[in-house]
Amino acid sequence: MPELPDVEGFKQIASQSLKQKISTVVVVAHPGEKVRTVQNISPEKLKQACEGLFFTDVKRRGKFLILKLSSNDHLVFHFMLTGYLYYLPTGQVVPPEVAANSRVVFLFTTSSQLIMADRRNLGKLFFVNDAQFNVVPLLNDIGTEPLSPEFTFSLFKRLAAKAGARKVKDFLVDQRFIAGIGNIYSDQIMWQAHVRPDREVASLSEEELKLIYQNIKKELQLGLETVLKGKEPEANLLTVRRKGLHCPRCTTPLAAIKRGATHSYFCPQCQK
Ligand SMILES: [Zn+2]
Repeated sequence: MPELPDVEGFKQIASQSLKQKISTVVVVAHPGEKVRTVQNISPEKLKQACEGLFFTDVKRRGKFLILKLSSNDHLVFHFMLTGYLYYLPTGQVVPPEVAANSRVVFLFTTSSQLIMADRRNLGKLFFVNDAQFNVVPLLNDIGTEPLSPEFTFSLFKRLAAKAGARKVKDFLVDQRFIAGIGNIYSDQIMWQAHVRPDREVASLSEEELKLIYQNIKKELQLGLETVLKGKEPEANLLTVRRKGLHCPRCTTPLAAIKRGATHSYFCPQCQK
């Protein structure tokens, strides 16, 4: 699932389309698949609402990407598990893997395109005005941006005190506490901090809290820099090494805890 660094990458991609006049919007219907990306407006109305306008600004909030239209309306994207944005410059051809999974295509008068593609077809796109952000589930309740100056250690400790008996993993991925951390970066942060994902937040020492806090900043920043250089961050990350493989620090086989539809990977030797 795209997390803070990945969505920052999508922001960079979307920014290439700013100020270009939109000629039309196509909500793509693939044979045998439901058209379900666009949430609160019909494809026809979305098209009417965007044609002739241009994007004036792009922002990220947690795992959401918000594109502002010259009408002052907003398009809010959530990429769920496999969604992403692709920018096609003028004169180029859409790569087959993007075309096969394209869900919404913004065509510009320059004939460049901004494409939301999504293999699993779970991503969402909302059309809202300034007063309607509450239409988007969670967006108004989202917590502090972890790379912002407001995310201090004292704030983190106050959030941890609220989380109490919850598991560290659940605390880190709860968007109402901290914005933008998901399964992969939370595993990475806990591995770096030597803390097991199933520890209760209330059981963490001041030193463990400090290590988690520092690694939230460090790992997200590292992921962000990697993504913005156009590289894949996966090579740096523990999670993709998967169960059965070994801890890069102590060589113990990694273990997994099932959590809903996902797994938390950790080292049973060096995470306590
Ligand atoms: Zn280890």
